[in-house]
Amino acid sequence: MKATGIDHLARSRRNQFTDVRLNREVELRDDAQWVAQTLQDPGTRLVPLWRSRSLLQRTNEGTMAVYLSPRELDQPDRIQPPTLLGSDDVRDYFAVSVTDSQKDAILERYPNAVFSDLRRASIDMAAKHAGILAYAKALHYWQHRHAFCGVCGNPNLLRSAGHRMVCSNEECGRASFPRIDPAIIVLITNRDACLLGRNAKWRPRQFSTLAGFVEPGESLEDAVVREVYEEVQLQLTDIRYVSSQPWPFPASAMCGFYAEAVDRVSGISAEVEETRWFTVESLTRAVMDDEVRLSPPVSIAFRLLADWFRKNGGGDLEELVRRQRALNKAAANC
Ligand SMILES: [Zn+2]
Repeated sequence: MKATGIDHLARSRRNQFTDVRLNREVELRDDAQWVAQTLQDPGTRLVPLWRSRSLLQRTNEGTMAVYLSPRELDQPDRIQPPTLLGSDDVRDYFAVSVTDSQKDAILERYPNAVFSDLRRASIDMAAKHAGILAYAKALHYWQHRHAFCGVCGNPNLLRSAGHRMVCSNEECGRASFPRIDPAIIVLITNRDACLLGRNAKWRPRQFSTLAGFVEPGESLEDAVVREVYEEVQLQLTDIRYVSSQPWPFPASAMCGFYAEAVDRVSGISAEVEETRWFTVESLTRAVMDDEVRLSPPVSIAFRLLADWFRKNGGGDLEELVRRQRALNKAAANC
């Protein structure tokens, strides 16, 4: 029997933030002695986060992650218990939340580095470490937004090397785990065309696939049907799951789909103020004329569209976008 699951795994691994796959060492998270020892190992690397921002440095090869050795962090006792991310078979990685004064000391040591927003930086980031930073950021976000127990309001304590929280009130003792919000994202097609929408809040000319959060009581496919009908009043057939992507902005797992619309009579809504159907030819023209701007190539939205574009004879969409940018740059320099 053909293992169709492999296709989905391979497809998801092409998405940004899935490139570095650490051994998460789940079985070691509760071994306090091992965690303490590993934290002091000079080979260990710390992934610092300050106010949800990642430490990055521009190089000729793109934006790179900056990691610290345990000795490079001043007053390590002032940080929250570090969070074990896992091992890449060479070394272990821990995420650490740094204080304002630790941040200043780090930037003094790395004058070319900055704490910046991973979402923007990942656009030209060497993919190798984007996955580690995304993983660290997702845990950091959860830890900082669940500092208190949702049942009794007492402070939560981090356990299992940062992957579990337990209420400090012994009578309550409620445990909580990292929260992820599933969202669907869908490229709608009808025969030789696909639909892109413009969100009312986006910058001018930006178009993308439709997306929305999964609601309680829904399957992922139910969410695709509901979101698309709410946003553009289209009815769908043939909904196909394609791939997924961790999207820690702030805490999503994006689940990507293709779906065929029964017709091209689409509407608009408060969220989607404009829709357009594109064939490969009209999308090529719209991109080259800078009439339409697409989501960054790191997004699953771009990946869904680029795969459709290639399958329908359009070639490499990323290359097309690069050519258009080069034209814009040349025009600006004239
Ligand atoms: Zn509690």
